[in-house]
Amino acid sequence: MKTNYYCPRCRTTEISEYKETFECTKCRDNNGFPLEFEKSDIGKIPDDEILARREMTSFVGAFEELRDSEKRKKFFNSLSDDDHEA
Ligand SMILES: [Zn+2]
Repeated sequence: MKTNYYCPRCRTTEISEYKETFECTKCRDNNGFPLEFEKSDIGKIPDDEILARREMTSFVGAFEELRDSEKRKKFFNSLSDDDHEA
């Protein structure tokens, strides 16, 4: 059985299909790379909330940074206040 995947951005069905993902043949990100989406997202997540994989990576990257500063904060808190481990 073949599901028809489409680009959640421009709705084209002209995509390059891979095992787990597919690339839109028309959309490019800011760096000129084709937008690549997870097949499993299609039909599960509203189209306008689906992130391309590279977008997801930068999102996770920002989140990691946030977590780091949270960790830093905890570390300094533990130095000044009480002694329990983070
Ligand atoms: Zn597209």
